[in-house]
Amino acid sequence: MKTLNDFNFKNKKALIRVDFNVPLNEKFEVTDATRIVSAKPTIIKILEDGGSCILMSHLGRPKGVQDEFSLQHIVKEVEDILGVEVKFISECVGEKAETAATNLQPGEVLLLENLRFHKEEEAGDRDFSEKLAKLGDIYVNDAFGTAHRAHASTTIIADFFPKSKCFGYLLAQEIESIDKVMKTGEKPVLAVLGGAKVSSKITIIENILDNVDHLIIGGGMSFTFVKAQGGKIGNSICEDDKMDLALDILKQAKAKNVQVHIPVDVIAADAFSNDANTQIVDINKIPDGWEGVDAGPKSIKQFHDVVMQCKTILWNGPLGVFEMESFAKGTIALGDSIAEATKKGAFSLVGGGDSVAAVKQFGFEDKVSYVSTGGGAMLESLEGKVLPGIAAIIE
Ligand code: AMP
Repeated sequence: MKTLNDFNFKNKKALIRVDFNVPLNEKFEVTDATRIVSAKPTIIKILEDGGSCILMSHLGRPKGVQDEFSLQHIVKEVEDILGVEVKFISECVGEKAETAATNLQPGEVLLLENLRFHKEEEAGDRDFSEKLAKLGDIYVNDAFGTAHRAHASTTIIADFFPKSKCFGYLLAQEIESIDKVMKTGEKPVLAVLGGAKVSSKITIIENILDNVDHLIIGGGMSFTFVKAQGGKIGNSICEDDKMDLALDILKQAKAKNVQVHIPVDVIAADAFSNDANTQIVDINKIPDGWEGVDAGPKSIKQFHDVVMQCKTILWNGPLGVFEMESFAKGTIALGDSIAEATKKGAFSLVGGGDSVAAVKQFGFEDKVSYVSTGGGAMLESLEGKVLPGIAAIIE
């Protein structure tokens, strides 16, 4: 696996696929710059080597050229974060882009316009990839968030750099973190899977059963397991058509010696609303008209004890409807437990969709070992898939 450290970038033009798909407010200001900050070490290493950086990214889902999706909006933010001037060119391929790339001097940074202004990007078009490839000497992929897509700039382009392609620091770190959970991490290994649906996590569960010692199934997902085992779940969310699957997972886990932990009690609400009436009930005795919306106190304690035993922890998915303040306690308590275990030396990886939002919202970001920058890419990695963007560099 080639990384930046295998190359000296002196007088080289690095063509870097970054993931600058950042959220913007109505004034086109960046509201969360995590992805830009995450790419900084890669860019700085190349500049310090005496190279130059040509940054390419997508932003949002434009239909053709749409000013609101122009990467021009983020130039100032990128400059502030990198501490260097950033040149911007309103194209990503063609004569204008080629001239700008040719004129780029060592130590300089050029940001290209949104790749998705061209439909060829998402189509993984070869000619478009070749045009992009013309701009740089070494291709660096540092965009984990799009590594699961076989797009022109994330995958196909790598063909044009057979000997001069590598991962950036961010992508390398993402791969290493997932490897720790899936292969190399110190035991006992724990996966906490929460969130709304069993169906969206099923492949992950089946894949990680070979690697983990403990599995916590929390959040909305747990009710399918409880009902499948004969519990009364009231109006809690449930995927009836996945109940057989749930029982099968429990069987597989047993055969593989994985200890499965499902909440024993829940906060039940009489409406799906922050100011609903609530009561604490056993998870398998939820009255009709009530629905489980958060982990109960016994479950929180039970999960804390499991977390504290483990040396490698993966967390994906909240334990309750954390977007509503009244139902965020279980998710916050789990974050606290994982933070404490991390402080005591465990490796903790948080990733995939809503868990990242939860971790940020409750301030756990700096208290866990690693927060993944890729939602879908992280989930697909946990499902055991080799991501096309990663395969294209390794081959
Ligand atoms: P996911 O994208 O599958 O990780 O699911 C995240 C969503 O699951 C969040 O929006 C939570 O509000 C939701 N969720 C977690 N627990 C419950 C629950 N007990 N009932 C309904 N939704 C839940």
